[in-house]
Amino acid sequence: MVQFALPAATIPSIAIFESTTRFAVRRIFCVGRNYADHAREMGNDPDREPPFFFTKPADAVVDDGATLPYPPQTENLHHEAELVVAIGLAGVDINAKQALRHVWGYATGNDLTRRDMQAAAKEMRRPWDLAKGFDHSAPCGALHPVSEIGHPVQGRITAHVDGALRQDGDLADMIWPVADVIAYLSCSVALAAGDLIYTGTPAGVGPIIRGQSCTVAIDGLSSVTTTFI
Ligand code: MN
Repeated sequence: MVQFALPAATIPSIAIFESTTRFAVRRIFCVGRNYADHAREMGNDPDREPPFFFTKPADAVVDDGATLPYPPQTENLHHEAELVVAIGLAGVDINAKQALRHVWGYATGNDLTRRDMQAAAKEMRRPWDLAKGFDHSAPCGALHPVSEIGHPVQGRITAHVDGALRQDGDLADMIWPVADVIAYLSCSVALAAGDLIYTGTPAGVGPIIRGQSCTVAIDGLSSVTTTFI
């Protein structure tokens, strides 16, 4: 047995809907642009270029109902409402036709972004890492197993800030459906149980200011609300 010099860190995890057990998180991947209207609002051409990915630390996950400190080094924290895919079966070079077999469940997520830091990174051709992968940057609602809800291919996805509707899209408008996202990602990395994939956001991203609450909701899934102080 391995002896560690210091106690091992706690394993990050997310809630499972109506369960006392939790889903251990291994890694977090995010799709860059997966809805044409959001690609356009960010100044990009939404033609079907291959999907691209970035990551967040596994311990960035936050449960529904969290109250968080407003993140440092930003004055423009943005919400991004996203469908989260939880991988339950390992695989590499997965065929899109087989890809959904690797999904354990789905959740609602918020890909929090320090937009001003991201814009500066783009401008200076530097990495996005700290614009996207900061502490508590991955709120995630309760995970719903595929065995109970199947695979959502359409359904309304929204973000509200203090009750005001900000984002209002449909999962059917993803440029790359979940199966294609898994297939592409598995060509770059070996996926394994515990990996989460945030699958991109529709148009309407915008700021959350101190004192506000943001709720992301998807038809048929538990919502996730996060408050910033
Ligand atoms: Mn995103």
